[in-house]
Amino acid sequence: MPKVVVLPGDGVGPEVTRAAVAVLREVAPDVQIEEHAFGGAAIDAHGEPYPAQVREAVLASDAVLLGAIGGPKWDRHPRELRPETGLLALRASLGVYANLRPVRVFPGLEDKSPLRPEIARNVDVLIVRELLGGAYFDPRREINGDAAHNTIGYTRPEVERVARVAFWAAQQRRNKVTSVDKANVLEVSELWRETVTRVHDAEYASTALNHEYVDSAAMLLVTNPSRYDVIVTENLFGDILSDLAAVLPGSLGLMPSASLGDGPGLFEPIHGSAPDIAGKGIANPTGAILSVGMLLRHALKRPAVANRVDHAVTTALRTYPTRDLGGETGTEAFAERVIEALVHTG
Ligand code: ATP
Ligand code: MG
Repeated sequence: MPKVVVLPGDGVGPEVTRAAVAVLREVAPDVQIEEHAFGGAAIDAHGEPYPAQVREAVLASDAVLLGAIGGPKWDRHPRELRPETGLLALRASLGVYANLRPVRVFPGLEDKSPLRPEIARNVDVLIVRELLGGAYFDPRREINGDAAHNTIGYTRPEVERVARVAFWAAQQRRNKVTSVDKANVLEVSELWRETVTRVHDAEYASTALNHEYVDSAAMLLVTNPSRYDVIVTENLFGDILSDLAAVLPGSLGLMPSASLGDGPGLFEPIHGSAPDIAGKGIANPTGAILSVGMLLRHALKRPAVANRVDHAVTTALRTYPTRDLGGETGTEAFAERVIEALVHTG
């Protein structure tokens, strides 16, 4: 029996997580669910954001579903007693090296996108960001008086493993990968480009592959986003491109994410704890529900069930938009509409 550890977290986290778990129970009743306090909730209950018993539980699980963490209540705590510190430790303990963010403009919601409707219409891109390497983690860093430097370093195996995730994901989509780099000026990008190409030629030759420079990709994501299926890129470029892409659907509440390594994956909506709307029952649970979809696809290897969840969410969004989309539907009611749509397609 697969085991999923659920970490509802703080703010709207518990609300959207409850909605997502209701969907998970509907489509995968055999899954065993174990819930733990995490982040601010764990600081309050156990005096630390990522207690040892939670670490043990996630490492023994098949996947982790996270709500959101943090909030003003813990903002002035010392660093080791902040929810964000717990999240960094959780990601580190899982060794998740690939961050996947699908970005879609949903049918009927084109007018919520900052793009013109005719451009917004076909946005359906998955950004795969390398998460453990590059400038953010390279130990070769220094600030020294009036000079400072950081280093972007990658090894061939680090590129290979994230490239494989991208190609594998593309095979379940439109089978096209765009690798984004800056190979005209950076040696590390030369290695990146050559390695992605080698993985492609040896293991995924039937998947379309092209290479783009990051500056050009940033522009094209806004002017011609429908050219993309899967984008794979290094940590810093991916950080910037995925936030750029996140504004395209029109609400932060719509998007899921998956962070994958060689052990259990971490699945969470991209939005934060949204303290301004917490406790009101109005948060959009779409990002959390679609995170369950990604969990079914990537952790439990049930793509057909994942597709059913995606379709049910698309249907519910069209007919029952939540507050952030100008509608009236509350968090729990939206989950009920998704479950209704699932039953119709079951
Ligand atoms: P973090 O907590 O990671 O710092 P943040 O502060 O950037 O995140 P959020 O907490 O996600 O951002 O909130 C940003 C805005 O988006 C807020 O106004 C919030 O109410 C809104 N928002 C975020 N998530 C949702 C959601 N699921 N449904 C509706 N509105 C949301
Ligand atoms: Mg915030």
